[in-house]
Amino acid sequence: MKRVLNFIDGQFEPPCSGRYLPDVNPATGQVIAELAESGAEDVDAAVAAASRAFDAWRRTPAEERSRLLIRVAERIEENFEELAQLESEDSGKPIALARRIDVPRAVRNFRFFATAILHVETPAHMTDDRALNYTIRQPLGVAGLISPWNLPLYLLTWKVAPAIAAGNCCVAKPSELTPLTADRLAALIAEAGIPPGVVNIVHGPGASAGRALTSHPKVPLISFTGGTKTGADVMAHAGPLFKKVSLELGGKNPNIVFADADLDQAVPTSIQSSFANQGEICLCGSRLFVEKPIYDEFLGRFLEGTKKLRIGDPLDASTDVGALVSDAHRGKVEGYVALAREEGGEILIGGKRPRNLPERIQNGYFLEPTVIAGLDCGRRVMQEEIFGPVVTVTPFGSTEEAIAYANSTRYGLSASVWTRDLQKAHRVAAAIDSGTVWVNTWLLRDLRVPFGGMKESGVGREGGFDSLDFFTEAKNVCVKL
Ligand code: NDP
Repeated sequence: MKRVLNFIDGQFEPPCSGRYLPDVNPATGQVIAELAESGAEDVDAAVAAASRAFDAWRRTPAEERSRLLIRVAERIEENFEELAQLESEDSGKPIALARRIDVPRAVRNFRFFATAILHVETPAHMTDDRALNYTIRQPLGVAGLISPWNLPLYLLTWKVAPAIAAGNCCVAKPSELTPLTADRLAALIAEAGIPPGVVNIVHGPGASAGRALTSHPKVPLISFTGGTKTGADVMAHAGPLFKKVSLELGGKNPNIVFADADLDQAVPTSIQSSFANQGEICLCGSRLFVEKPIYDEFLGRFLEGTKKLRIGDPLDASTDVGALVSDAHRGKVEGYVALAREEGGEILIGGKRPRNLPERIQNGYFLEPTVIAGLDCGRRVMQEEIFGPVVTVTPFGSTEEAIAYANSTRYGLSASVWTRDLQKAHRVAAAIDSGTVWVNTWLLRDLRVPFGGMKESGVGREGGFDSLDFFTEAKNVCVKL
């Protein structure tokens, strides 16, 4: 059986514990690999390797760092199909989605930051004729990078690429549920010629390997993507050590459809934003709000389109909805469907495990796309992140009501607004408390824009020069004239 080892100082190393955890394919329920069950000792070794590599890497000219990062992008492209397959088998996502989103985005992440560092400017401030101030930005040292299971390679590379482009070395901790593409990335990074110790990957549980990283005194910076509750634990450990922290957390994103929307676009995109990746994307629109005059028409078309989604083997290129990441996670999502009933909601479609699946995937963790109506905004199902193929739908009467509904949770990650009225679009976008507002679209990502959440959806912004700012420290040099 395949063993996923840690990648430390350019070598694949067994965990100090000598223990391994099972890695399960969620579509079949079969164990497909074992991964290192690492803890503080492994993290110590990885941090020591990264610290040793830092001095030479930070002095490596930007053009050379850029060249090496582009080679990583090329190596990912050359292994595109293998990575798509590994991602699909490890997470349960449809291979079509891994081909369309996950792997291409990993390539873009490396290309984007490889070229961004060639265009950095240094501001200068004249203090009349008394002094010249200039600002330099310097890497901090060892970056701790913690990423989740829903977009494993996409989000890992979204952290590794800017961290090392800016001249840091890093220790990354992928989710124990999806270690396979991180393992493959480690080999590709070595093949690309990134020096040993610049990128280290430690596998294992969040509570041991992850926490060892957030509380390590020689890791001055943590970039974390995951759940809001875990984010609080990261803060609790990183805070007393005054680490620089960026948190990309959960969402309960509103998708607002006004009566004047172009339904030919709003309906199919809303189906995507509700159920893509089985709803396991932090940016999924899990609360649909539809203006009353078009509620019935929209809902009819939305349900009709949702029924046509093909649930099936993630390795089949025609599958739209794959398996949820684990049995425990499916249980949590099903718990919310049961809670919706208790809270007085009506399950319009879905809510059940699909039947008649092909033999190979009969023990997989599948759940039908589920649409729930009839809940007030204050209900738990309308307040808590479910992170599965479940969407609520609620009618609204006025723009003010839509804004109030949208802002009624403790989250503030993203929102979509559908309208042909430009002024209304701008007004609503300004009034919604979220880090991103899409107008007449969803998940259109320009890597230069600031990305992050308001309220309990996160702290800080990454993306473009915001990422390079996060992964460097600004220093003012004041020269008396
Ligand atoms: P978790 O918060 O459970 O885990 C995220 C990562 O943190 C994993 O690598 C996990 O390891 C690790 N971890 C767990 N506990 C600790 C700890 N105490 N200290 C340090 N690290 C720890 O999130 P999920 O993996 O379940 O991912 C889903 C969540 O991620 C959702 O809430 C989703 O909204 C959010 N997310 C946010 C995004 C954003 O950009 N805002 C993007 C994508 C997802 P392990 O899994 O091995 O336990």
